[in-house]
Amino acid sequence: MSFDSIKQTHDDALMPTYGRFPVALTSGKGATAYDEDGKAYIDFGSGIGVTSLGYCDEGYMAAVNAQLHTAQHFSNLYYNKTQIDCAASLCRRTGMARVFFGNSGAEANECAIKLARKYSFDKYGKGRSTVITLCNSFHGRTVTTLAATGQDVFHNYFFPFTGDFVYTPANDLDALKALADDTVCAVMLECVQGEGGVMPLDDAFIQGVRALCDEHDWVMIVDEVQTGIGRTGKLLAVEHAAVKPDVVTLAKGLGGGLPIGACLCAEGFETVMSAGMHGSTFGGNPVVCAAASYILDTVDTPAFLAAVADKGDRIRARLAAMPHVQEVRGKGMMIGIVLEDGIAAKDVANACLASGLLILTAKTLLRLLPPLNISEEELARGLDILESVLKEWNQ
Ligand SMILES: *Cc1c(COP(=O)(O)O)cnc(C)c1O
Repeated sequence: MSFDSIKQTHDDALMPTYGRFPVALTSGKGATAYDEDGKAYIDFGSGIGVTSLGYCDEGYMAAVNAQLHTAQHFSNLYYNKTQIDCAASLCRRTGMARVFFGNSGAEANECAIKLARKYSFDKYGKGRSTVITLCNSFHGRTVTTLAATGQDVFHNYFFPFTGDFVYTPANDLDALKALADDTVCAVMLECVQGEGGVMPLDDAFIQGVRALCDEHDWVMIVDEVQTGIGRTGKLLAVEHAAVKPDVVTLAKGLGGGLPIGACLCAEGFETVMSAGMHGSTFGGNPVVCAAASYILDTVDTPAFLAAVADKGDRIRARLAAMPHVQEVRGKGMMIGIVLEDGIAAKDVANACLASGLLILTAKTLLRLLPPLNISEEELARGLDILESVLKEWNQ
């Protein structure tokens, strides 16, 4: 089928909520995607940090297939070992105490916000409902997680938003301290702000937030929806700062391409959310949990994580030497490229697409979230394509 006819059907059938690149993808293998005409693209986006092991990884397919051929769903009215094993694996590997499963990053964050407010309510009663989040953050698209997102452009049209979110600049502990009062119950942050422009927070800031949360009994929520599950070269990005949060949220890379969200809490928060207080029909679906368990077993080894860190370093070194690149930032294989003034990242991304490379943008930056296990050959080819696009760029 031609791209034009696929696009026409799309236009007639879907709400126009996405600005899409002009390509229809059909299949993939490893870090290479193919379009309707069989044209190959090196994929530096991983479906926005989701396909952590690339397309059609053999072990991943076997794990998912085995569960699919056993049972695809039971509901949370019953115990199921696949779901329980996945939760136990998450607890063991992260040092957290309990897990709630949802289906997306936004839902994981909803659970975190509910947990923080409930914890505070149980201990202090009404009135401590304010959640402090950071300017330029991104926490999701529900009415509450939009409110949690510290960017004005997201606070339109859908009024009224959930109340009691306040925003403070990243890496500014004094500004955060100035917000301390008896209405606050939690602080929520991303260790590397993803959608906000691949902005790593300072370790000292993250440690300072931990100390303030301890001082005021605020719940420290770390949104690892994009940074988690090996993306930065550690299982959780917050490990770089040697901090243990009270609540961690995960999604994107955890399912390797199947929809999962997880909200993890530390000791002391195990029973804040009690029976009937929260739930999800699909949450903890066995097929999705079989996928997540396989991803965890594969990614969470010292050798795999060291390879992510090493690849990330080498990618950043190559990018820094490319023409029109002003700055390269990020951690591990979560990488942002600041281009020289006047070069629109979206235009470069479109030129890359034409040359056979899928690459993301974040605000005015180019953004890379390659599959964590991308082969050296695909990595080199993708970087070659980006380099030749930038070399030929005339402002
Ligand atoms: C993508 C993202 C979300 C939202 O995840 P969805 O699965 O789209 O709901 C939340 N937080 C961060 C940091 C993200 O990158």
